[in-house]
Amino acid sequence: MSAPAARGPIVTIDGPAAVGKTTVGRMLAESLGYLCLDSGLFYRAVALGTVRAGGDPDSPDDALAAAQALRLRFGPDPSGRFAARTFDGACDITEALISPEVDRTVSLVSRIREVRAAMLEPQREALREGNIVALGRDIGTVVCPEADLKIYLDASPDVRAQRRWKERRDAGGQMDIADIRENLHARDRIDSQRSIAPLQAAPDAVIISTDDATPGEVVGAIRAAMAARGLIRGG
Ligand code: C5P
Repeated sequence: MSAPAARGPIVTIDGPAAVGKTTVGRMLAESLGYLCLDSGLFYRAVALGTVRAGGDPDSPDDALAAAQALRLRFGPDPSGRFAARTFDGACDITEALISPEVDRTVSLVSRIREVRAAMLEPQREALREGNIVALGRDIGTVVCPEADLKIYLDASPDVRAQRRWKERRDAGGQMDIADIRENLHARDRIDSQRSIAPLQAAPDAVIISTDDATPGEVVGAIRAAMAARGLIRGG
């Protein structure tokens, strides 16, 4: 099926923490000349705002106040990579969003109904014109069920923990791999068991395991699925 004429194609990539969504999504978007929307950053920004305001990440009132105070926007880094930096107003919060404190609290604010409701419209607005790769937990199921191609990435817990540990080490962080494994496990459990917009593959999603595949191979598989649907020419 080809994309509706009113907008460009929308490709969604959902899946558990540290499965490779950001790496694959950015590579794919770059190869297509599309934008990449990482919806995890919305929820991370709410968690950061809640904690910085001294609020309780389990409190709907505190988390919603943080969500409503957000003036989130994305911008290029000095090399020109679009959406590589995240700002709240004039403040660059990119690094703060991947702190252990945000890792610990983000799934708590994300399960709050009012927070999810507040984040829905900005995400849909960002997707409006298409030509975009959107990453998250519920993009293919709730935010954009009409997407042209839905991908669900999966990988074993050990592979994901190892990747996240390397990523944080390369960024200069020092974290114990056991702590990382525990955080991924806790987040996946909350994200997939919550009552609103739980992490799950859409019934029409293409499921790809990233256990034994390089990011380039996964991008190739997604491009092939796009070509098979007539969204792009070739693979
Ligand atoms: O993708 P990332 O690991 O940055 O997501 C951080 C957290 O944000 C997830 O663990 C989940 O709690 C929440 N999230 C969500 N829905 C999305 C994207 C992220 O609930 N669409």
